[in-house]
Amino acid sequence: MNSYRAPVRDLRFALYDLVDLEAHAAKLPGAEHVNRELVDAVLDEAARFTEQVLAPLNGSGDAEGCSHDKATGAVSTPKGFREAYAQFVEGGWSGLTAPEEFGGQGLPELVGAAFKEMIDAANLSWGNYPLLSHGATEALKHHGEAWQQEVFLKPIVEGRWTGTMCLTEPHCGSDLALLKTRAEPQADGSFAVTGTKIFITGGEHDFTDNIVHLVLARLPDAPAGTKGISLFIVPKFKVAKDGAVGERNALRCGSIEHKMGIHGSATCVMNFDGAEGWLIGQPNKGLAAMFTMMNSARLAVGIQGLGLIDRACQNALAYSRDRLQMRSLSGPKRPDKPADPLIVHPDIRRMLLTCKAFAESGRALAMHAASLVDLVDKAQTPEARAEADALLSFLTPIVKGVLTEASVECTYHALQCFGGHGYVREWGMEQLARDARITTIYEGTTQIQALDLLGRKVIQQQGAGFKLFLGMIVEFCSANVAKPELVEFIAPLAQAAQDWQQLTLDIAQRVQSNPEELGAASVDYLFYSGYVSLAYWWARSVAAADANGHSEDFRKAKRETARFYFKRILPRTLAHAASIRAGSDSLMALDETLFGLG
Ligand SMILES: Cc1cc2nc3c(=O)[nH]c(=O)nc-3n(C[C@H](O)[C@H](O)[C@H](O)COP(=O)(O)OP(=O)(O)OC[C@H]3O[C@@H](n4cnc5c(N)ncnc54)[C@H](O)[C@@H]3O)c2cc1C
Repeated sequence: MNSYRAPVRDLRFALYDLVDLEAHAAKLPGAEHVNRELVDAVLDEAARFTEQVLAPLNGSGDAEGCSHDKATGAVSTPKGFREAYAQFVEGGWSGLTAPEEFGGQGLPELVGAAFKEMIDAANLSWGNYPLLSHGATEALKHHGEAWQQEVFLKPIVEGRWTGTMCLTEPHCGSDLALLKTRAEPQADGSFAVTGTKIFITGGEHDFTDNIVHLVLARLPDAPAGTKGISLFIVPKFKVAKDGAVGERNALRCGSIEHKMGIHGSATCVMNFDGAEGWLIGQPNKGLAAMFTMMNSARLAVGIQGLGLIDRACQNALAYSRDRLQMRSLSGPKRPDKPADPLIVHPDIRRMLLTCKAFAESGRALAMHAASLVDLVDKAQTPEARAEADALLSFLTPIVKGVLTEASVECTYHALQCFGGHGYVREWGMEQLARDARITTIYEGTTQIQALDLLGRKVIQQQGAGFKLFLGMIVEFCSANVAKPELVEFIAPLAQAAQDWQQLTLDIAQRVQSNPEELGAASVDYLFYSGYVSLAYWWARSVAAADANGHSEDFRKAKRETARFYFKRILPRTLAHAASIRAGSDSLMALDETLFGLG
């Protein structure tokens, strides 16, 4: 049995002690009333919903999966999913962070991110349906015309309809320049959308009557490549400009995928056959509009990684305390028992601490990023909005890339703590490992996040966000350098930040003479950046736990986990730096034709 308890205490620590929620909310017009009391109530209720409604459906949803009716194209989700969604809507959760003018509650994204972590940990597959609706809300909020917001956004915010994101085609995944789906203008101002989209999450399901697809397609005269892509709203049932829902649109789910994990999340082939669609934003500027949705979804997928790490860690910890195998190397720790519990063994502790260290610092990193989403939207000055935007753009690939990769690592560590019992289905650990695997693939693979970070955010944009983040580290180190209790963290953090800067300059220089250096360095650079970013949050966590009157046990746990992180995880940066400095030669030297030789 795989269980889940929402980490409310540590979420409060991240929200109140690290990100300072009340000071944050005070900067957001319309959210000034948001205080601890309100957020505590939201977190408690969110914990109840995710622990009691979603978590029990995780294993059964995996075993049952979704089913597709070939005759009608209908998709059924696993037993209980639809009812859980009805409860979610009834509880007002679908509009938690959406603007009040569209029926939402207008709470900060920071609060939404905390709830999202719980959803993803409780039931990742189920969580994918509202995740896509949240992305669609963002795209429509920023780029939709007034009538589109009125007609499509409100029902999504109210949870009556869900959204999807239709980018991928059979021949076109990471490279959207290859996209072929067409959109022909019609006399009434609409467009006839034709093409096949694959791997569409929630493309069809039984939660709601209507589904709003946001589809990337090309207009007839569009330039080739990414400069000729436009974004369209294509609902399952046609919707008139006055909001009247009409006949079934010319689109259908052709099949669903049978896949490694997230069995309860319907992954659909969607066939559009002259379906009625409406342009969102400017012609040929669809990718920019879709990026609003993609950035929201990228952070969301990073949070999926976080949720999985935490759940895997919780279960591995409980098992390691309970399971008796072999004696401790330094002599029996439970002489009254036939053997000691697993948790006494150093390597079990390494795996548990790795999970704990990623979960807690990953939480801080993700919550900080979520607070930046609020500031990009609502900070009071254009300068503050621009600064938040630069920082968020820089941190998004780190959150997405590193927390999802860490979820693959940590769910495997947690499974390993169970030995053979982790490999069999009964304990649910293999499901977590299978579910985690997709998070490094969808919403831009780890390689794409890495190229985005190094190529676009650091080199092309001359490190605007990078400089801001380094500034935060330097400021924290300077403010705390004289505190003897923090010196063990401040000194290596300051050094790591300095090395990170130097490494970045070295790569930028190499790339000038050989463009392959970018691709050769990018994934190592992503990991490097992630490990330093998490070190920053660990150092801040120790400082905040000490400063804010937490219990002795809480402070000790933070300090010892931070020590583990600095001593056993942060040094991974050295290997990544060595790989980066080794350059691209050893990757590119072997002729393509010689790869397959014995
Ligand atoms: C379960 C599931 C749900 C999904 N949901 C959605 C959805 O809702 N909407 C949607 O539009 N799409 C969705 N996708 C599609 C997903 O986003 C793509 O699978 C992903 O973007 C990768 O595209 P691809 O599979 O075509 O791989 P490819 O683009 O063919 O890439 C293959 C491999 O090559 C690597 N690669 C490609 N280019 C480079 C490069 N320049 N340098 C280094 N490595 C490179 C990639 O990282 C990858 O490892 C989903 C996919 C799955 C499996």
